[in-house]
Amino acid sequence: MPRSYIVKKGDTLGKIAKKELGDANLFTLIANYNGIHDPERIFVGQRLEIPTKRDTQPQPPPIIMVPGFNLIPPSGLDNIVRTFGDIVEYIRDDGTLDQRWEDEQLLRTPLPFAIPLSWDPKKQVANLYTHKKLKDLFPAVFREIERRGLKSQIRTFGGCFNFRSKRGGNKLSAHSWAVAIDLNPETNRMGTSGDMSSDVVDVFKSFGFTWGGDWSGNFKDPMHFQFCNGY
Ligand SMILES: [Zn+2]
Repeated sequence: MPRSYIVKKGDTLGKIAKKELGDANLFTLIANYNGIHDPERIFVGQRLEIPTKRDTQPQPPPIIMVPGFNLIPPSGLDNIVRTFGDIVEYIRDDGTLDQRWEDEQLLRTPLPFAIPLSWDPKKQVANLYTHKKLKDLFPAVFREIERRGLKSQIRTFGGCFNFRSKRGGNKLSAHSWAVAIDLNPETNRMGTSGDMSSDVVDVFKSFGFTWGGDWSGNFKDPMHFQFCNGY
């Protein structure tokens, strides 16, 4: 049986998670459990349901906290739009994307190590062009990849921002919001199992990413990681 918790003055979801579940990192579980999309928005007197330890299992791999970053991956198109912006408003009548989208939503963030471009391996990407809300997240992911000795598993960069229809379907790809990244595309084609390192997959999942390699059939996309789900 989940128990209730009434939010007190000075509480954060992290503090509540520490107090109730013994681990501040489990704040995302409380957020998800209560349908809270923005973990900063809780209020005094709010009743939260606290999942039991058993509800929180299995939760491998553990969520890694990034200082200054507390976004949980939005689930479904409505929440993606609420979190990362309504790109449809920026699509012109001729189907092209207004430059204002990039100007208002995207920025370049430095990566801890440069990655050769898939389409031109003599060149490397050292600054990732991504959604501004993920500017601290992507560098943290690659720092963790480096820290775990997995840098050699990242061979080529296949893209982050790309305004295009989702391949194999006609809805917009998460790349339109620049909240997805493709890695090692040469050996991880869509619809194949690919050869993505499971250790690299674990790192991305630890930061809340969904891996396209977990999708099924023709949608299986082992090069692809995105910071949103249910879409
Ligand atoms: Zn992709």
